[in-house]
Amino acid sequence: MRVYNFSAGPAMLPLAALEQARAELTDWQGSGMSVMEVSHRGKAFVACAAETEALLRELLGVPSNYKVLFLQGGATTQFSAIPWNLSAAGASINVLHTGQWSAKAIKAARQQDLTVDVIADEAATGYSTTPAADGFRVDPTAAYLHYTPNETIGGVEFGYVPESGDVPLVADMSSTILSRPIDVSKFGLIYAGAQKNMGPSGLCVVIVRDDLVGRARPGTPGPLDYAAMAESDSMLNTPPTFGVYLLGLILAWVKESGGLTAMGERNRAKAELLYRAIDTSEYYRNPVALDSRSWMNVPFIGARPELDKTFVSEAAEAGLTNLAGHRSVGGMRASIYNAMPIEGVQALIDFMTDFARRNA
Ligand SMILES: *Cc1c(COP(=O)(O)O)cnc(C)c1O
Repeated sequence: MRVYNFSAGPAMLPLAALEQARAELTDWQGSGMSVMEVSHRGKAFVACAAETEALLRELLGVPSNYKVLFLQGGATTQFSAIPWNLSAAGASINVLHTGQWSAKAIKAARQQDLTVDVIADEAATGYSTTPAADGFRVDPTAAYLHYTPNETIGGVEFGYVPESGDVPLVADMSSTILSRPIDVSKFGLIYAGAQKNMGPSGLCVVIVRDDLVGRARPGTPGPLDYAAMAESDSMLNTPPTFGVYLLGLILAWVKESGGLTAMGERNRAKAELLYRAIDTSEYYRNPVALDSRSWMNVPFIGARPELDKTFVSEAAEAGLTNLAGHRSVGGMRASIYNAMPIEGVQALIDFMTDFARRNA
């Protein structure tokens, strides 16, 4: 029996992709082996990786002057790899600080020989807002501007793409990639851990403009050096083969579902339905500013916090799992990534309404 899994990550994956993976798990493409058992340098897997990349390029509209890299170590490793690759020693970088994930990116950059200028910090609102589009000044000499389009823990999302002039814009899209169309040409670098909207953990996708490749500081470890990874088609060492394969199946599902425009419409409808239910309820509340509400991660607080644990456990019994808020913030959080159908959101709303009626 499948549940509606509201986990922030690893998250629910599309059933069609899982079923295809199951069907061909023990004998992939007539090889008599699973995809996990074939050589990553063999014809079949090299073709699989190339198809996955081509599909990602097609769906996201990645221009030809960008590299697509399939890396390991999650988004967290990129918090260090990005400054290593994109900034000279002693350079300064600019950061927009909007929550716990941007805080981690800042902390990792500060471990290197860099000046990290936080040019907007939403601390005053408890990180329940994004800065106004004209509310910060990007230093034109900065090596890059880093931001987190969707803060997975706070449920805070930018409603716009920051303007950074000639300074390369770097975006941690771990919890928003593939949720709607984007204009990749506005970015110098996009990175995303796979386990929210793209597949299993263990794979991290980096999309980087050509002019930013080949500038890694001396001493950058090979597997983190974008030039070394690009030159080897992300196969400097053994890539996360199963993750690349499953990403391919999930991208095929996205394409069959109508591509990113259709995904965006579905995700908008799901988010609007859930926020409307919260806003019209007297029991629940969402703490995020209206213009910064995430389509993907929806935190909410009940009027009686002492009942949060009961909410989470009763919901799980009803087949609605992983609704506890992040351990650092409490309350509840529903992550409604691409694979969550609108029926799951409606089932959650029905449960919420019933719970409020019983406990108000
Ligand atoms: C989940 C997440 C990360 C961390 O990803 P790992 O793959 O666990 O390193 C980083 N940034 C954001 C926005 C996330 O949602």
